[in-house]
Amino acid sequence: MRAIRFYGREDVRLDDIPEPAPKVGEVKLRVLYNGICGSDLHEYYHGPIMTRTRPHPLTGVHNPVVLGHEFCGEVVEVGAGADDLKPGDLIAVEPIQTCGVCHWCRFGQYNHCPRPAVHGYNREGGGLAEFTVVPRAMAHRLPAGVSAQQGALVEPMAVSYHAVMRAHPRAGQTIVVHGGGPIGVGAFLALRAMADIQVIISEPSAQRRAILAALGAERLLDPRSVNVVEAIRDMTGGRGADASIDAAGVPAAFKAALASTAPMGHLVVVAMHMEPFPFNALSLLAGEVNVTGAKTYCNDYPAVIDLMTRGAYPTEGWVETIALPDFIDRGIVPLSRQQATKIMVEINRNRLPAPAEP
Ligand SMILES: [Zn+2]
Ligand SMILES: [Zn+2]
Repeated sequence: MRAIRFYGREDVRLDDIPEPAPKVGEVKLRVLYNGICGSDLHEYYHGPIMTRTRPHPLTGVHNPVVLGHEFCGEVVEVGAGADDLKPGDLIAVEPIQTCGVCHWCRFGQYNHCPRPAVHGYNREGGGLAEFTVVPRAMAHRLPAGVSAQQGALVEPMAVSYHAVMRAHPRAGQTIVVHGGGPIGVGAFLALRAMADIQVIISEPSAQRRAILAALGAERLLDPRSVNVVEAIRDMTGGRGADASIDAAGVPAAFKAALASTAPMGHLVVVAMHMEPFPFNALSLLAGEVNVTGAKTYCNDYPAVIDLMTRGAYPTEGWVETIALPDFIDRGIVPLSRQQATKIMVEINRNRLPAPAEP
């Protein structure tokens, strides 16, 4: 089968490798769509970061590895003990395998497991292949009405959803999303699905603001042309935002978010800040803002899938598809230039199931 494998920095190859077979408790999927993530860009241009040159402590896997951790596939075969799934079932994969025995795993907060392995970085297989095998526990069956493309969105939307929930949203609030990339879009879509929340989005790219406007975002700010802090205060009667989500990952966005969050409000950092930067900690005293982070997801898949069945996650206008051999030229490269929001690789073009009836 064909698979995109990572060998090292800027060395990714389209290989022909053996098809995997499911063992006990595993399920074999024909991959339909695999989204390209910001972390894939980091891995390609700056890696190895997530992938391993030495065996991973949990899985023993090292490079070269099949990439791809945001994917949806259909069941083609199940191992013993995974037979509650049937061939043809559409599956969204939760790609993080945890140790199951540490303090955090036993508490159910598995996103803090210190030894996670990620399908598509350091497990056997990934979504950028015609087939892949995952443990039953990582497979979320999608209900009728959720498309294969949406299935591949569950992973990044779960990141956004987790960040949104860390902001403690409540009806009547104003919440600002800083950064309109895929995680910002996901935060907007999740917040919009909640009752009576005013969402403001700050995003410098005109192209991304246009995409957000087409998705229905009404309050969009361009941080290059307006003073974001003043604009947010103006839109909130001078109070500031009840909560802010930093999905931008640039110091200016974090500082604007901190300065424009209302006293006692929440500021959630979900973006990856790759460099340290200074900020005025006195503003923490002044506003008693709760500054926190959001790490991947933890039991968030069911809520995202439920919102999907209710139409919260349209794919039109912001999700583009490419073919497997175009992974670098039409995937990694345009994303690195911010010329696209979400690009998915369509893996088995001729094997897509018929669209489900709404
Ligand atoms: Zn990702
Ligand atoms: Zn653990």
